[in-house]
Amino acid sequence: MKFLYSDTQDYVDPEYDFINDRNAPTRQRYWDDRYAHEIMQPTPYDGLLVAMSAVVPAPGVASSKVRYSIAERRSMLRDGGGGVREFLRLDGPQYKNAMVMGDCGAFAYVQQEKPAYSPQEVFEFYAAARFTHGVSPDHIIFACDTDNPPREAVEEDIRFRFDLTLENAREFMRVCKANSMPFEPMGAVQGWSPKSIAQAAKQLEDMDYRYLAIGGLVPLKVDVIHKVLRALRDTIKPETKIHLLGFAKADSIQHFTGYGITSFDSTSPLIRAFMDEKANYYVPKLDGSLEYYAAIRIPQAIENSRLMHGIKEGIFNAEDLVKREERALTALRSFDKGQETLEATVEAVMDYQQFLTLGGDSDKHTKSLIKTRLQIERTLAAAPWKHCGCDICAHIGVEVIIFRSANRNRRRGFHNLGVYHQHVQRILEKSE
Ligand SMILES: [Zn+2]
Repeated sequence: MKFLYSDTQDYVDPEYDFINDRNAPTRQRYWDDRYAHEIMQPTPYDGLLVAMSAVVPAPGVASSKVRYSIAERRSMLRDGGGGVREFLRLDGPQYKNAMVMGDCGAFAYVQQEKPAYSPQEVFEFYAAARFTHGVSPDHIIFACDTDNPPREAVEEDIRFRFDLTLENAREFMRVCKANSMPFEPMGAVQGWSPKSIAQAAKQLEDMDYRYLAIGGLVPLKVDVIHKVLRALRDTIKPETKIHLLGFAKADSIQHFTGYGITSFDSTSPLIRAFMDEKANYYVPKLDGSLEYYAAIRIPQAIENSRLMHGIKEGIFNAEDLVKREERALTALRSFDKGQETLEATVEAVMDYQQFLTLGGDSDKHTKSLIKTRLQIERTLAAAPWKHCGCDICAHIGVEVIIFRSANRNRRRGFHNLGVYHQHVQRILEKSE
């Protein structure tokens, strides 16, 4: 089972100055920055997924945070260039087996009547960027009814999306064949129920697809995903490969080993490093599962909107806050060197935390501070960064656990990708 990371233009400044919180003075974004695979051994994923909607703007495509510039697009698509692999700097011999998969990014146009790109345009994009795999243009169906209602019982819009996804796949395959298959085409599967998803998959097989990409799983509960996969596997050939698109239940992947899943993509290990309330740092457990630690939040006072607001309103004193921030950082770094006790470090961090923790009334505020204190104590007591041998933790040590600036938060995400990738490989070994 291959784990693909869905590219969100994540790179870090290798020369970042953690003490002064500054980028290297001459640093040029992208050119000097490094992707996770450039600073970690082994590579923390089996390949990357790039969405066309992030690269090629079209009417009706919602602008997302991931957005390639015109220059970046040209560089990726230029004639005779190295394509997406070169752009992502995933073109060395050590990456020769890495998948580079393209899809349309159907979420970006989910509100539109039709997909933003035609099968021909999608083919041209994949071929010009020289992807190894490319998904046919689909139109997302969100609802999945495990009662398997018949076609007549579902809304017209759902039927329309179902038919259009299959029509597109037929045309996409025709164009791929007419151009002697420069990449492996993957048939996008959409449906309103486990049964209709399985029927769509069967039709795609009949169109000669050997690799199917199952979409629309993002909002589904684990038991519904099981029903979908069971219906699929009961219907399609055993040798037909399955990819799960945007698999949000990545942390439950160990429950999905029985379906012959070839690959899946997810962003969650990286995103959770800075989006999750407390599961920010992944640690492998001896029993083969994962456990999570909260990162320690010491944001830059002058960049934190809540603190800035307080300073402007005259509630907080800027100088005082900066001093507390400094003390928290110093305590944490001393703790890491064994020169400060756990208790004193927790106090120093909490002394700054009290201004960050939200709480309307004082009771709520107190509760929330207690919760935060327990999380900080748990993280410091385990000091998980000291026991991780990955390139990130070995290189930046305690900085990885500090929730502060993209250069730390993203590196923590890279660490998570590495831990998660090995987790997937262990699951695979066990299930074989
Ligand atoms: Zn690590």
